[in-house]
Amino acid sequence: MFNKILIANRGEIAIRIMRACKELVIKTVAVYSDADKNSQHVQFADEAFYLGDSAPKESYLNIDKLINAAIQTGADAIHPGYGFLSENASFASAVDSAHVTFIGPSSDSIRAMGDKAESKVLMKKAGVPTVPGFEGLESEKDFEKAAKEIGYPVLVKAAAGGGGKGMRVVNEESELSEAIQAAKREALNSFGDERLLIEKYIADGHHIEIQVFGDKHGNLIHLFERECSVQRRHQKIIEESPSPLLTPEIRNQMGEAAVKAAKAVNYFNAGTIEFIFNPSDSTFYFLEMNTRLQVEHPVTELVAGIDLAQWQIRIAAGEKFPFNQSDFMQRGHAIECRIYAEDPSNGFLPSIGKLLQFIEPHGPGIRVDSGFAKGDEVTHFYDPLLAKLIVYAENRETAIQKMQNALKDFIVHGVVTNIDYMQAVLSHEDFAKGKISTRWVERNFSDWQPAKTEIESLISASLADLIFVNQKSKNENETDPFNPWKKINNFRN
Ligand code: ADP
Repeated sequence: MFNKILIANRGEIAIRIMRACKELVIKTVAVYSDADKNSQHVQFADEAFYLGDSAPKESYLNIDKLINAAIQTGADAIHPGYGFLSENASFASAVDSAHVTFIGPSSDSIRAMGDKAESKVLMKKAGVPTVPGFEGLESEKDFEKAAKEIGYPVLVKAAAGGGGKGMRVVNEESELSEAIQAAKREALNSFGDERLLIEKYIADGHHIEIQVFGDKHGNLIHLFERECSVQRRHQKIIEESPSPLLTPEIRNQMGEAAVKAAKAVNYFNAGTIEFIFNPSDSTFYFLEMNTRLQVEHPVTELVAGIDLAQWQIRIAAGEKFPFNQSDFMQRGHAIECRIYAEDPSNGFLPSIGKLLQFIEPHGPGIRVDSGFAKGDEVTHFYDPLLAKLIVYAENRETAIQKMQNALKDFIVHGVVTNIDYMQAVLSHEDFAKGKISTRWVERNFSDWQPAKTEIESLISASLADLIFVNQKSKNENETDPFNPWKKINNFRN
């Protein structure tokens, strides 16, 4: 087993992994940038190593600095978390070359699944159903022909894509040319690669993904599904398990297809096969594989009864996974809400600033994976995810009720959050019925506005916190006195 693990990440996921390390009696090393000097993950670790400037390419995306940090601190393994370098095959190779263990799959598996077009070809060969479509097209004429053959609506998406970027739905031929240009531009800007693929757009599809888990000795199983259809701008905001939609037969078929997909790239460690599910005819298609731990892994941990982060570490150290498929079942229901510092009534614009108040909910069946505390600063450098709120109950109805109560008890002031928006989404009758396709949020909540009382509550909370912040700024010798009205004006803008 490892002696010391460096976590090449920040925020809630760094803390989540450190907890797993501590439970396995392994020492932890945090890495940090200028903006994160005082952040929670640095305080939680046994030791911390400074990387550099706040810009990700100078810190959390800098392979040389991270490898050097592992060597300097004597870490014998690196956990990449999610995002940043977690799906970067060159990083995994560089870690191996430095004789440090990468906690994740092999760099070959990462590479094979890293490209949407190439992985789709690979999956077709392996007999895993993929969305009808074409890869490797170049001219607009070819795209036009392909779209006709597939039948509108179609989706053009970046082969190198991620995070919903470089993706355009095209409803009819007249929109195609513009969509191709826009998707190419976005793909080039975000990934330095303008290759696009085109496929059938499954309108009112569900995003359902299967967790897979395997060891380095050839054992690989699945740990059931997560329903992730509640999305804004093709990005998940609420995830749950089990999916309210799947029958045991379809669940088995999807599980088997996921295992087949993972085995096709000799996969080990934790991974996720994402499918788009068409409820009108119960067909499902491979979208992509995420070769890392997912943001939404906690819902699987709760329902399947396994600590995925701990097992990732044990598998990386060479242990055999001692369980079979038949050792697992889904028990109860889990829901996760991603709590962001963002403004849902203003295009989900990130909201930055000091957390004047941050009170997490507690109670039976409530889990909060968070990376922030009162007084911390949310900066523009990184994803504004504050915390993941996860509830677990005996059935879906009780879990929804528990989540609504937990959201009420989650108090954040100083930045705008999506908590009230989440509350509105969860309270919708469609959600109660599980009638939630990937476009449901867009259709039902695009003109959502916070209740007026929120501004009033922000004013009173800001005033109530004045004493705390004044005290804190005196301690920190800050020259600028705190001005609560500035925050309120920002909020009004
Ligand atoms: P990314 O890697 O950018 O997140 P994905 O391929 O995983 O891209 O897709 C993100 C989301 O886009 C999916 O969860 C789904 O909502 C939507 N999507 C992707 N492909 C299709 C498709 N063929 N039909 C309908 N929706 C799709």
